[in-house]
Amino acid sequence: MPGEFDLIRRFFHYPTSHTDLGVGDDAALLRARPGMQLVVSTDMLVAGTHFLPDTDPFLLGWKAAAVNISDMAAMAAEPRWITLALALPHADEEWVSALARGFRECCEGYCVDWIGGDTTRGPLNLCPTVFGEVPFESAVRRDGARHGDDLWISGWPGMAALGLAQLQGQLQLVGGWAESCLDRLHRPLPRVALGIGLRGIASAMLDVSDGLLGDLSHILERSQVGAIIEETALPLEPLLAACKITERATAALLGGGDDYELLFCVPREKRGQVEALSRHFELPLHRIGRILDKSGLWLQRGDGVCEALAARGFDHFVAAKTPD
Ligand code: ADP
Ligand code: MG
Repeated sequence: MPGEFDLIRRFFHYPTSHTDLGVGDDAALLRARPGMQLVVSTDMLVAGTHFLPDTDPFLLGWKAAAVNISDMAAMAAEPRWITLALALPHADEEWVSALARGFRECCEGYCVDWIGGDTTRGPLNLCPTVFGEVPFESAVRRDGARHGDDLWISGWPGMAALGLAQLQGQLQLVGGWAESCLDRLHRPLPRVALGIGLRGIASAMLDVSDGLLGDLSHILERSQVGAIIEETALPLEPLLAACKITERATAALLGGGDDYELLFCVPREKRGQVEALSRHFELPLHRIGRILDKSGLWLQRGDGVCEALAARGFDHFVAAKTPD
């Protein structure tokens, strides 16, 4: 069985493209570009809590990198560097090699240098830390939403939740949809280019990891505003095509996390700029509601009636979660 240093040398040590000193010393040396703020985030993946212990290691590596890179997208930052602290029950070479390939492939796809980490024996646990850059005053935070702003969501949120339901045997998705939904679950694509494009346009933003309504409530709390969502504007088409059950599709869209789409607020007069970004990136961006000055979260139904929504996302200490 390979030792810790073998593992590091063989699987965790790669050339870098914009790093003064990467893996191999006590610490890495990075150079932030002039005029840039450093942006730092950590998102941990624990076996049995965030994924099943028998998850494909390549996909696990990909997802560990992707969910961290997504936090940079959510700040309108450019991801630049990443570390991976790793606890492994045993040093299974094939498994570690596949994990490293998945992690690296995702990093390469987003021009992120893998610059260090830690490797130790213990219950399976992956803890990346990502570092990015954003021009001063250009980060998009959660606390900037204002009365009258439009509320937007990128892509087709809810597909990952349907993929998980299929995996758990709760749903039988139609035709080729199962594959697309599982792909969204296993290989989320952080919306980095969109996040950067929204600098100076979005007033508030976050990435949806715990469910659209739950994550929206974070923006509402931090910005001290409310919101109304228009039922007829919800992008349900692919979800309905996949599962054929309106309630399931709506629940996946409003309550499912794991797609890592961007939820953002934009002043009404900048609508055209959002539509231009959508065309430029060939990425659907859906205007699903608007920000209110009174607190609370509402759903405007197709018949015009408004009902209050409970904005509860997933909380590790409140609900027991099935591993995903
Ligand atoms: P030390 O014990 O001196 O702090 P380590 O033995 O933990 O150093 O790590 C040696 C080098 O290998 C460091 O540069 C560290 O960043 C790197 N490293 C360790 N584990 C990983 C990993 N999982 N991914 C990338 N680099 C790693
Ligand atoms: Mg050291």
